Amino acid sequence: MPIATVNPANGETLKTYEAMGEEEIERRLQLAEATFRTYRTTSFDERARLLHRAADLLEEDQQDIARVMTTEMGKPVKQARAEAAKCAKAMRWYADHAQELLADEEPADSDVKDSGASRVRVRYRPLGPVLAVMPWNFPLWQVVRFAAPALMAGNVGLLKHASNVPQTALYLEDLFHRAGFSEGTFQTLLIGSAAVDEILRDERVKAATLTGSEPAGRAVASTAGEMIKKTVLELGGSDPFVVMPSADIDRAAKVAVTARVQNTGQSCIAAKRFIVHTDVYDAFAERFAEGMKALKVGDPMADDTEVGPLSSEQGLSDLEELVDDAVRGGAQVLCGGERPDGPGWYYTPTILAGITREMRIHREEAFGPVATLYRVADVDEAVLIANDSPFGLSSNVWTRDEGEVDRFVRDLEAGGVFFNGMTASHPAFPFGGVKRSGYGRELSGQGIREFCNITTVWHG
Ligand code: NAP
Repeated sequence: MPIATVNPANGETLKTYEAMGEEEIERRLQLAEATFRTYRTTSFDERARLLHRAADLLEEDQQDIARVMTTEMGKPVKQARAEAAKCAKAMRWYADHAQELLADEEPADSDVKDSGASRVRVRYRPLGPVLAVMPWNFPLWQVVRFAAPALMAGNVGLLKHASNVPQTALYLEDLFHRAGFSEGTFQTLLIGSAAVDEILRDERVKAATLTGSEPAGRAVASTAGEMIKKTVLELGGSDPFVVMPSADIDRAAKVAVTARVQNTGQSCIAAKRFIVHTDVYDAFAERFAEGMKALKVGDPMADDTEVGPLSSEQGLSDLEELVDDAVRGGAQVLCGGERPDGPGWYYTPTILAGITREMRIHREEAFGPVATLYRVADVDEAVLIANDSPFGLSSNVWTRDEGEVDRFVRDLEAGGVFFNGMTASHPAFPFGGVKRSGYGRELSGQGIREFCNITTVWHG
């Protein structure tokens, strides 16, 4: 895949980049290692001051960087601006909380005494240069979600961003430098995915985090496994959105539309499988379809656009194949199901009903504005279908019945259960999945501790 900016709204190649060669990669690895030696000794106050400055600069750049993101991967520009704002918020949150999240811990006095010590502390020390392999779908957020805690913990970052968002990748490096972080603290490596393996094997790289597809996760995790290096994986999702009879159906149907088509449906935590109790199925399906049909699809640079083009031609044909396979297998198209004429990689917001286990879309992730609808008889069947997926990222349940709440919290196989609302990440809450959605957590205290050397300090 060439490293290039190709506008998904018209397919035009705007800028291409040459991948960094061996010498430049070596220079950057040396710089990362050398920088870590001093950066690790900086105080939380100093790191926080720089990260606050980065947040301020990002807010100043909000309009411009939003347009860059939209040009590179096609998200509606209003959503791109919101993404930039969310990144600034996360930077400030970690700047303000890292010291407390990584404060020394003291085990119980009785345990200290039992070990024969006079004093024991647990200290969170940084690991070193961490490689971050990131996807294009939230090109700022995915990186900041890694970088803000990593830099606050005293690590340094090496970013291998997706090949279709090079301008956003270079912007991020520049942002951290302008904020005052020294050159080696956060570096962008303009490289293709084939170059990742060797970098990961380099002993100067201590750990890796990858957000992306299952095959990419498998490749990085197996090399890291061979090299005995820590990894965090945030992979795909096919989140269930369960609607039970006690739910507010109007609101559930309205939120269902946003939950499915946010970022033109290309979000790991988008609700993808809509599992609806038979008593409210018809009412929900009608309102959901009305909402999907009313969406404004078009130029992602226009402020009132709700659904833009998919990020790539490949992404569009993958999605079309999933829909075609389901229709061949007997699925009914309640709305959409078309690739409109004209330039750009657009797909109309689509709902498919009558899904069976044999259809690919039942098990695979639909990375675009396509929803699948299931009719269920009771809680048992809802849980069964919700869990009948290789993925386990997040989940959504609409119910006002406390007994059902307990049941779903106990039984849903996912890293999050969101009631009467849609899944959204927040810096203070852990984010991540189970099953083939990956492992480890980002955000919150759990996220910042993933790339720490958790050290027992024992005094006799
Ligand atoms: P992708 O193809 O896996 O790309 C993600 C990153 O991995 C890119 O930087 C890519 O580089 C790199 N990569 C690809 N193959 C690799 C390999 N064999 N070894 C090392 N690096 C490799 O993913 P995508 O299709 O762009 O992104 C969509 C996927 O990401 C979806 O499955 C989505 O659900 C998932 N995702 C998950 C989360 C989460 O938090 N769980 C968030 C967002 C997206 P190149 O661009 O150079 O190929």
